[in-house]
Amino acid sequence: MSEERSLNFIEEIIENDLKSGKYQELVTRFPPEPNGYLHIGHAKAICLNFGLTQKYGGYTNLRFDDTNPVTEKTEYVNSQQEDIRWLGFRWKNELYTSDYFGKLYDYAVILIEKGLAYVDHSTAEEIAAQKGTPTEAGTAGPYRDRSIAENLDLFSRMKAGEFPDGACTLRAKIDLASPNMLMRDPIIYRIKHAEHHRTGNQWCIYPMYDFAHGQSDSIEGITHSICTLEYVAHRELYDWLIEKLGIFPSKQYEFARLNLSYTVMSKRKLLQLVNDGVVSGWDDPRMPTISGLRRRGYTPESIREFCDRIGIAKRENIIELSLLEFCIREHLNKTATRVMAVLDPIKLVITNYPEDQEEILLGENNPEAEDKGGSREIPFSRELWIEREDFMETPAKKWFRLAPEAMVRLKHAYIVKCETFEKDAEGNVTTVYCRYIPESRSGSDTSGIHVKGTIHWVSRAHAKQAEVRLYDRLFISESPDAEEGDFKDYLNPESVEVIRDAYIEPYLAKADQRGRYQFIRKGYYCLDKDSTPEHLVFNRTVSLKDAWAKANK
Ligand code: ATP
Ligand code: MG
Repeated sequence: MSEERSLNFIEEIIENDLKSGKYQELVTRFPPEPNGYLHIGHAKAICLNFGLTQKYGGYTNLRFDDTNPVTEKTEYVNSQQEDIRWLGFRWKNELYTSDYFGKLYDYAVILIEKGLAYVDHSTAEEIAAQKGTPTEAGTAGPYRDRSIAENLDLFSRMKAGEFPDGACTLRAKIDLASPNMLMRDPIIYRIKHAEHHRTGNQWCIYPMYDFAHGQSDSIEGITHSICTLEYVAHRELYDWLIEKLGIFPSKQYEFARLNLSYTVMSKRKLLQLVNDGVVSGWDDPRMPTISGLRRRGYTPESIREFCDRIGIAKRENIIELSLLEFCIREHLNKTATRVMAVLDPIKLVITNYPEDQEEILLGENNPEAEDKGGSREIPFSRELWIEREDFMETPAKKWFRLAPEAMVRLKHAYIVKCETFEKDAEGNVTTVYCRYIPESRSGSDTSGIHVKGTIHWVSRAHAKQAEVRLYDRLFISESPDAEEGDFKDYLNPESVEVIRDAYIEPYLAKADQRGRYQFIRKGYYCLDKDSTPEHLVFNRTVSLKDAWAKANK
């Protein structure tokens, strides 16, 4: 899709490693924790990991990083798989860190046997106090130098369930004076009596992230373990464990996570929005989740293009939401079917068009497509719906749409001239009366009349009524995470507007959820999953132009 670009730093490392023969084959993994639905930040990591093995050969594993029994669910495992497939990627192996619990336990025993791990009964506060500060070395606690035999015995009793939660932990014995706080005897196992979504009650001790992640990479023969910058400080521990255990030398590389303006991107916070009923669910079309974007009408192509355009950086920054919107507009401009829909209707009556007459006009489905996307039939008759904003009682300067005495073209149909109009008791225009020019029919216009404005319409007798949901950004703050107080204080109270009496072309009665439509002059829309044949519901994916960019200038 995009032009040639230079190699990013990870591609450079991989090209060198393959050239030097350090690895025979590239193996990457995408390692989500199944504690929520995937979001656009995960899409970035997915495109990166799967994209690399598409480019250089080798393969990518999907590994569910399920070491925290309390927050993980099978529902999340399933949704995460669906989202990766929808994005267009296929993993080689479906794996779970929990499959390695046995092996990880054995690794911990090896460390103990080498005198490199010990069971510690200190409380969390005591451990924190022993750790020292970045400028002051830590101090050894009373359990640091107990014998290997004692450690082996205690660790097996931890596993056997003899101790309650928090009674003790297993710590790696590394260096209490290390400038890297994570190397000051990190906890590698904790006790948690909780049911796990896959292993049930088989285990009551669980490995910490740092002990599970690198070892799992190594077990799978992952060559390049790519993660976000928060893990830079963890790399030393990652390497230390692999070296001391003498196992396959996976290597960790870090890139800047994707931050997107006007949204939050942590599963924990997104879960709060779901639980608090701020949104209708994980797939609410305002959510930055992959399922939300899908329901909103985003295409996999547009998300992959977005991830490609932002590239791989080594420094954190915030990407403008408008870039994501640009990518979907670009793709839909090439692919969406053009249709007419009137969202705020007033009546237009053509006084010189016979009452019992109707005709079928043809509309191109997509002037941007090579084959024009074929064409569709559009019924026309004496009474139409047009958009309220396309009529002005007292026209402004350079007004090329309808006004008393003014002429416009009805898209795909005729030129009409406005004669009079009617208002209701509140002064709102209800009906506009026009005459049409029979020789001006689009495609066979012999009228010789040129008009500057074209407006869309639907035939009153043929139109279908529909509900249309217009979405805006979920937050009013560019970075709700960085604001003072709770991120939920910065929600946009107008993030959705529901129009219940829009009128659409009869063609759209056949719309399905895979269809993508441009309501001409309005924006891009798709059918929502709430839609039924009796009650059609459309979501606005994105407007035709960026309304915020203008408003904020
Ligand atoms: P969250 O806080 O949203 O749950 P996480 O990093 O805890 O994020 P994981 O399920 O552990 O979520 O992440 C799986 C993979 O996706 C990791 O390799 C992680 O680095 C990557 N990832 C998560 N968020 C982003 C992001 N915003 N940009 C790029 N990669 C991300
Ligand atoms: Mg995580």
